[in-house]
Amino acid sequence: MSASLSNKLSAWPESRIRDVYAGVTQEAVEAAITRERRTVSDLIALLSPQAVPLLETMAREAQRLTRRQFGRTICLYAPLYLSNVCAANCIYCGFAASAPVEQPRTTLSREEIERECEALAAMGYKSILLLTGDAPTVAPPEYIAEACAIARRWFPSVAVEVYAMDETEYALLCDHGLEGVTLYMETYDHDTYAAMHRHGRKRDYLYRLNALERAAAAGGRRVSIGSLLGLYDWRMEAVWLGLHGRHLQQHAWKTALSISFPRLRHTPPHFEIPCPVSDAALVQMMLAMRLFLPEVGMNLSTREPAALRDRLVRLGVTAISAGSSTRPGGYGAPECNTTAQFEIEDTRTPEQVVAMIRASGYDPVWKDFDDAFLE
Ligand code: SF4
Repeated sequence: MSASLSNKLSAWPESRIRDVYAGVTQEAVEAAITRERRTVSDLIALLSPQAVPLLETMAREAQRLTRRQFGRTICLYAPLYLSNVCAANCIYCGFAASAPVEQPRTTLSREEIERECEALAAMGYKSILLLTGDAPTVAPPEYIAEACAIARRWFPSVAVEVYAMDETEYALLCDHGLEGVTLYMETYDHDTYAAMHRHGRKRDYLYRLNALERAAAAGGRRVSIGSLLGLYDWRMEAVWLGLHGRHLQQHAWKTALSISFPRLRHTPPHFEIPCPVSDAALVQMMLAMRLFLPEVGMNLSTREPAALRDRLVRLGVTAISAGSSTRPGGYGAPECNTTAQFEIEDTRTPEQVVAMIRASGYDPVWKDFDDAFLE
């Protein structure tokens, strides 16, 4: 029987990773850059401080690998927040149940979902990401399935970023047109995970860890992983994230994998980011991940500022959001004052982002596959 993801992560505890980091030499980094198929030790070498002087070389290799796999295409997608109600209490999040919000919480009705879809379709989007908090009594799987069905009438590609579900619940969503599932582990470190998620269903580390394998087994065609950068040492998280990615490549091989790099920036006033991640660290992590997992898509959201996104488009990113709103109703009724999950950094319109992509020598892609492909 093949090893579970949990066993694979357990085989790389922090102490073992730190030992490998301690032994990395510049020669090891150079060898990791030139190798065709990279090992976990290579990944650690690429993430190490010894790799910093070689970032330019890594960037060239990342660009070569990305163009080989994806050509010069950058997909565009938009988040659509269905609800900002949440029963969980992730202490870093503006949607948390105990977060002192001044603006109303809401869950969109059918009509409001239609209005959001219409507004996003008018902006040109073909790929949409539906989001909710962790509140299955307010936004149960049946509600999310109905939202998928509505969105599917407007967009050829519909994904969700919602709470972790059972396989049958993911199957229900797939039956209603779901194509992809995004679910961040937030942090792979057990102690930090427990400290950040003190109440509710989200406390169950293993249930969340294995969710995307369930989504793939239920028929999800795309899954996206990530850790919330800033909660724990990024040089540890990146290794565990790479292990997660490689595990999914082996065990959910019919499902396309992508990785997101959400970086904590604007958090509630009471929460200080424990392990801030610099721009340079984010760039190194993305380059190392591209070299370790050359076939996976890499997503970058409007959490990141415009200047940094412009640089990263040339270095391995394959999908970006644009013109995003993180509040329910934010597209169809822009004047609405519902609570937003976080403030976005890149406030450019989709047209401006498309122009940037073209000016960088890449092709913006609104739709990356045909319905016939699914049949
Ligand atoms: S991160 Fe998700 S589950 Fe946690 S409080 Fe925010 S919306 Fe809720």
